Amino acid sequence: FDEGGFSLTSEGHAKSSYNWSSIKRVVENSGGLFIYIPRWIDCYFWFPKVAFASENDYRDLINLIKARVRKFQTLDTKIFVALGSNLGNSREIIFQAIGRLRKFSREPLLKSSLWQTTPVDCPPDSPAFVNAMAVLIPFPNETPESLLEKLQQLEKEFGRQSKKILNEPRPLDLDLIAFGNEIRASEKLTLPHPRAHERRFVLQPLAEIAPD
Ligand code: AMP
Repeated sequence: FDEGGFSLTSEGHAKSSYNWSSIKRVVENSGGLFIYIPRWIDCYFWFPKVAFASENDYRDLINLIKARVRKFQTLDTKIFVALGSNLGNSREIIFQAIGRLRKFSREPLLKSSLWQTTPVDCPPDSPAFVNAMAVLIPFPNETPESLLEKLQQLEKEFGRQSKKILNEPRPLDLDLIAFGNEIRASEKLTLPHPRAHERRFVLQPLAEIAPD
């Protein structure tokens, strides 16, 4: 790749040059990039991530393409984290927690508004919740397990005690709703989150940032 676009050589074929305007679509997934250039037949060029000397080289290319190709589509893994608080200054806690989640994402966070919701399955007289949803793009080495650990650490930092009563009021609750297409069914981690789809306090903020 250079300022003009890119050139290809392959055995037995003349060298072909492409410029940026011939690229109609770029699709990124966790393995690399597809670059779509309509010619006589539809064709995609595949640039696997492993073909690059380093993660930085690959990122440099992505940033260059993003700056020039309007139709850049990411099929990257998305992480959905539901935030909730019904103890203390819940609005402030949620704002601060969203700020802290930024560090766990390779790209700027997508975040919902803050929603006030009625407690579900909670002890009587539990205060109302403030809920929100954030979408993160994981760093290359992140796993659902490593992220859950970070989320639980964050809950502790915001003063969450180990629970004595089921769903008792808490300053901060972070639920991992989904981590791409990952599936887990252990005691520590269930993915996608088992009850999320039934809950309005998850669905409403989610609909704002991921209507599909
Ligand atoms: P909660 O009181 O709802 O925050 O539940 C916390 C417990 O649920 C922890 O012991 C987690 O290990 C477990 N857990 C299982 N699956 C998930 C998930 N997808 N997100 C967050 N916690 C989970």
